[in-house]
Amino acid sequence: MPTVADPTALTDAIRAALETVQDPEIRRPITELGMVRSVDVGPDGAGGTLVTVGLDLTTQGCPLKDTLTRDITAAVIAVESITSVNVEMGVMSAEQRKELRSMLRGGVAEPEIPFSKPGSLTRIYAIASGKGGVGKSTVTANLAAAMAADGLRVGVLDADVYGFSLPRMMGVELPPTRVDDMLLPPVAHDVKVISIGMFVPAGQPVVWRGPMLHRALQQFLTDVFWGDLDVLLLDLPPGTGDIAISVGQLLPSAEIVVVTTPQVAASEVAERAGSVALQTRQHVIGVIENMSWLEQPDGSRLELFGAGGGATVAASLTKTMGTEVPLLAQVPLDVNLREAGDAGTPVVLSAPDSPAAQALRGIARTLATRSRGLAGRPLGLSPVSR
Ligand code: ADP
Repeated sequence: MPTVADPTALTDAIRAALETVQDPEIRRPITELGMVRSVDVGPDGAGGTLVTVGLDLTTQGCPLKDTLTRDITAAVIAVESITSVNVEMGVMSAEQRKELRSMLRGGVAEPEIPFSKPGSLTRIYAIASGKGGVGKSTVTANLAAAMAADGLRVGVLDADVYGFSLPRMMGVELPPTRVDDMLLPPVAHDVKVISIGMFVPAGQPVVWRGPMLHRALQQFLTDVFWGDLDVLLLDLPPGTGDIAISVGQLLPSAEIVVVTTPQVAASEVAERAGSVALQTRQHVIGVIENMSWLEQPDGSRLELFGAGGGATVAASLTKTMGTEVPLLAQVPLDVNLREAGDAGTPVVLSAPDSPAAQALRGIARTLATRSRGLAGRPLGLSPVSR
């Protein structure tokens, strides 16, 4: 253990302690990000040792100042012989920010969509539905939270311009932090969340049409620092609109999951939403039936919205697409599910053993472990000489 008598060892121990502190948004050690400007060690005036850490924030108004101060203090105070810690906040210079952006982009100066690069290992699932109110956003939020709880690195892009309910369902309160032209997504339940709703003044309807939506989606894919993700989930607007086409162009390796209710009317439009994938040459990899039944106190199932919608959509898409589109699961109606969504903690975390949560956790595991198709993905083959 270092002692004050061994200043080099002490400085090393403080450095090592700082390396354990992550920037809450970028999720890398603050030392790696060039945020630690200085470390000074001296007497604290009461016979102990004071460490003053100079920290450069990415932006002046960094909303996570308090978290950083707390984490740094906790890490450094744990070093033997340190009795007090002082964190002095500054702000990165334009030059430092440029270096940071370039480092985060892996040395690439110009923004590009990391997920469409050959060799990207991120699985992308676009969650679609024929109409609103079938639980598409609820399903997306729960799949994201369940996958993150299983240890995957997960991001969610809420592109549902008519609903953008994901921030509320995930309990996101902070807006993204802007580092010049780069956006750092807020993190909730270990999931990075970006929503169109974060860029629209509260209470205003979005009247964006095709080209604007396309640009917004493109910007979210290029300008947001997603980091290395195992899974990116997209919450698409309901219906068969332009955004599905944009997703096809910008994220050719995205695979579609269709959410429907058991109702016949809902299942018909869900089929149409799914078959847009034919035009965009994307794979529909499964159907989720939501609100399938309400379990009664005596254990019987009340089928409030009828029965069979999920199976019908799966069968019909299997025919249209020419590949097997399975019914992934049936998620029952569950008051916990709605309450959890309203409270900002998805039901897979707040009541993981409830029947709805179990069904959703099952889907999350299926999607996380299924082998990926090769659709839209370059194979990286090159000719060999014989
Ligand atoms: P969409 O994204 O398809 O418009 P939402 O996910 O916003 O739909 O869900 C609509 C409403 O239905 C929300 O209030 C949500 O909490 C509720 N809900 C969704 N699925 C269920 C379910 N299985 N049981 C109970 N309520 C649900």
